[in-house]
Amino acid sequence: APSIVWFRDDLRIGDHPALTAAVERGAPAVCVYVLDEESPGIRALGGAARWWLHGSLEALRADLETLGATLVLRRGAAGRVIRSLVAETGADAVFWNRRYGGPERDIDAELKSGLADDGLEVRSFGANLLFEPWTIRTGQGTPYSVFTPFWRACVAAPEPRHPLPAPAPDSFEASVTDVASDDLASWHLLPTRPDWAAGLRETWTPGSAAAHERLAEFLDDRLGDYDADRDRPAIDATSRLSPHLRWGEISPFEVWNAVRERRGGAGGASGEARGRARFLAELGWREFAWHVLFHAPDLATRNWRSEFDAFPWPRLHPTALRAWEEGRTGVPLVDAGMRELWRTGSMHNRVRMVTASFLTKNLLVDWRRGEQWFWDTLVDADAAANPFNWQWVAGSGADAAPYFRVFNPMLQAKKFDPDGAYVRHWVPEIGTDDYPEPIVDLGESREAALAGYAAVKSAR
Ligand code: FAD
Repeated sequence: APSIVWFRDDLRIGDHPALTAAVERGAPAVCVYVLDEESPGIRALGGAARWWLHGSLEALRADLETLGATLVLRRGAAGRVIRSLVAETGADAVFWNRRYGGPERDIDAELKSGLADDGLEVRSFGANLLFEPWTIRTGQGTPYSVFTPFWRACVAAPEPRHPLPAPAPDSFEASVTDVASDDLASWHLLPTRPDWAAGLRETWTPGSAAAHERLAEFLDDRLGDYDADRDRPAIDATSRLSPHLRWGEISPFEVWNAVRERRGGAGGASGEARGRARFLAELGWREFAWHVLFHAPDLATRNWRSEFDAFPWPRLHPTALRAWEEGRTGVPLVDAGMRELWRTGSMHNRVRMVTASFLTKNLLVDWRRGEQWFWDTLVDADAAANPFNWQWVAGSGADAAPYFRVFNPMLQAKKFDPDGAYVRHWVPEIGTDDYPEPIVDLGESREAALAGYAAVKSAR
């Protein structure tokens, strides 16, 4: 009888333990992706994420065909869909790689015990995080709440495993071809009227092949200067792997080992050693965000520090939020970042921090409004990294001394975009009468934010 391999945020054939287990079993495989917009608690994908998913599924389908397997697409509550697929195909084994969000874990746990009760072989594997969240604990057995000691504990833990190779071509001799599948186009993942995705198409190529090319290029050309240049938005200095990691088109084990095995290359040996350590620590931030989410599944909706519930957010000024979303605040670095986001589905990390700080600390808008906008517009919109970083900037999140972090967007621009190249690229009308005055006084609004934190502190 066939095995079912359920693909989720792991749209690849290399380093895919669930797929490898199906190959080793020797039976034909039914590979399935389920678009689940029904199960309770599942967060609906944003627009840019839906665009990415379409391309990623096309790439996965082509990759699976080389193995002699077809990709079945189904829509609906995932638990129900997998059970009906078991009934239709007579499968006696179901394999998947683990997910770490709260609602997703509930779905998987219920399905696993139900199928096991029916006598099926059900196996789940670690594939999307370098360290399983329950393995990294403080001496007291509690989860870490600060990055630096968290990452120290990870680095001291057993080294992440080597990645599994992709199965050989035609690994599945007998393919299962008579299983009904949705037509991808019928999911309407791509925007039509209006088609806002031109900038995304120019900037990105979803799929594993593009992810591996990007990694190789980064290691060859940019790792040596990564530590020095990673905060400069005008320079193409970072890996730009985040959407590929978000969708699991490349695994963190593949990235980790490629970096570890790297010797020589651009920027001299010492630049490369620093670049390597810094880059691995950035992968560490991804781990940390997921570990925090694992222990606080409502990270996108609730203040991680509950005393922050006392923060006196003023009544939302809708025109201010709109101006921020559209890059018309009159603050050049903020506007540049928000326009980059709208056009390309991404934004440089330094500028993400500045735009998020400006929204929460100068416009005094609740971080959840900004998190939702990023969720809808980022191609790498990630259920852990996005709310984690928003809360980190807002001051309500997992960090040691969060209260007084207010980025001054003018000073940040001077420091990280010193010749103004990034701002001029995205805000070409800067310096003309067409460019507005700042919609808020940076000094006064900062004082108002700090007064809000005083209320939070006294609520502790
Ligand atoms: P690189 O510098 O090449 O880093 C390598 C990888 O490390 C990234 O691809 C990413 O997977 C991981 N990483 C780096 N920084 C972080 C971080 N601070 N938190 C978590 N992982 C990190 N990242 C997302 O992947 N999805 C999000 O939805 C997201 N939302 C963010 C929201 C805000 C307000 C802020 C300040 C940051 C957010 N980030 C998010 C983190 C970071 O900005 C991006 O991961 C990074 O810009 C991606 O570019 P890169 O791949 O070139 O990064």
